[in-house]
Amino acid sequence: MSAAPEIAFGPIPSRRLGASLGVNNIPPKHCTYNCIYCQVGRSSRLDITRRKFYEPEAVYESVRRRLELLSSRGERVDYVTFVPDGEPTLDASLGREIDMIKSLGVRVAVITNSSLMWDESVRSDLSGADYVSFKVDAVSERIWRFVDRPSHALSLQRVLSGIVEFSEGFRGHLASETMLVSGVDYGDEADRIAAFLSGVRGLRQAYVALPTRPPAEPWAGPPDRGVVIYFLTKFREVLGDRALPLDFPERGSFGHTGDARLDILSAARVHPLGEGAVAQILRDDGAGYEVLRGMQESGELSVVEYGGTKFYVSRPRRGSRTRARRPRLRDRWALGGRGPRRPAEHAREIIICKPWQLACVTLYARDVMERRILFIEPGASCEELVDLMARNGRGFAVVRNAAGENVGIVTEWDIVSRLLAKKLDPARTKVEEIMTRGIVSIDAGEELSDVAELMSKKGIRRVLVTDKGSVVGVITCHTILASLKSYVDSISKDLAKYGLLPF
Ligand code: SF4
Repeated sequence: MSAAPEIAFGPIPSRRLGASLGVNNIPPKHCTYNCIYCQVGRSSRLDITRRKFYEPEAVYESVRRRLELLSSRGERVDYVTFVPDGEPTLDASLGREIDMIKSLGVRVAVITNSSLMWDESVRSDLSGADYVSFKVDAVSERIWRFVDRPSHALSLQRVLSGIVEFSEGFRGHLASETMLVSGVDYGDEADRIAAFLSGVRGLRQAYVALPTRPPAEPWAGPPDRGVVIYFLTKFREVLGDRALPLDFPERGSFGHTGDARLDILSAARVHPLGEGAVAQILRDDGAGYEVLRGMQESGELSVVEYGGTKFYVSRPRRGSRTRARRPRLRDRWALGGRGPRRPAEHAREIIICKPWQLACVTLYARDVMERRILFIEPGASCEELVDLMARNGRGFAVVRNAAGENVGIVTEWDIVSRLLAKKLDPARTKVEEIMTRGIVSIDAGEELSDVAELMSKKGIRRVLVTDKGSVVGVITCHTILASLKSYVDSISKDLAKYGLLPF
């Protein structure tokens, strides 16, 4: 049996940190954000609750073993960096893990999206690190929601206040990162972000970054060069030499353990690897290209093309498929939204999302599901069931037992075929006698196209939607048709607004 990728991986040559031994302390992909440019793909769930994902001892052991191996080969590590498959501060054991790893005599860095810095426990955990990089992609609500797609439980003002508060007490190396993407009307955002960063105490560098690896949304590429220069100029005016572009090449070499498959998988989990990087790992581990081919054939590794370069990622990336994407309902307010007047040289990009990008976002189950569901006990009579359905105008009910488990579903068709056709007495027949056992469900974060595919494969007209195991809604054929109609109507309106032909 092949070994699972380790929590510690690399070292990866980092643009800021030199030889950086990565720590993947979050399983894929728990994040507070769902950034359009995320190189890890779309977030499977947006969460702001901190919890323990791994035992701190397991994280420590993984790092210790890796450092020991690298040291025996005379390989240097500049930083041990928490840079996981999601947001590292979601890990409630982060502070303890940092302390344990620092006891090994290494410097520790954390790359955070800063969304939880308002939480005192997060600030306390981060204060143990030697280097903290925090993200500020926007200080305007509109751009923040469009680019970072945060959890609805977050507030931008709270996030920004948390950063400032953290900077007041942090004694280590503090740097910020602002990612710029195409298709956004930044208006005067460069001035506003620079003004905000000028109030962050002890900020050593304010990096301006561009997506250089395959993004979660295929349309979220780097912006025009003019936008980058404009940001750097504005940052320089306020922050001086601390404003820097983050586009210099990565330096150093990738770490290797002698097991090329494991090294490639561990690194590619959080960091799409270019062809050069993969070739280097194979060379260092003394392995041939048959290892790479085997990983591709088994589905462990897939290839994504971005900017004319091939990248290897360690699993099918959510959101990396190339077919056209549709607008997600909750993002629609942002599409076509206008920002403050921008400088004349950028005036041609006045819309936040270009018309042809309207067909590039996705509808999810949670966006379209109906939330009203009827529940009935298995021991209730069919007479009670019919009464319940008639009073509520619904064609089905979920059968839930006293322990709160959903044990089946009962529909109009069950009533016709298993009750009326058999001439059973509704008052004497229990719901459990006619219900369909087992429930077909789908996670609220699944795409609507996947819901439709499941329904067609199973030949069913409705599917329950679950979130963390609880039933939260239902999608029926009617729901899908209705949402498609409203989708087509709104797209037509947008196209008309931009003077384009719909077909
Ligand atoms: S880029 Fe970072 S913050 Fe944004 S979704 Fe990906 S892991 Fe989360």
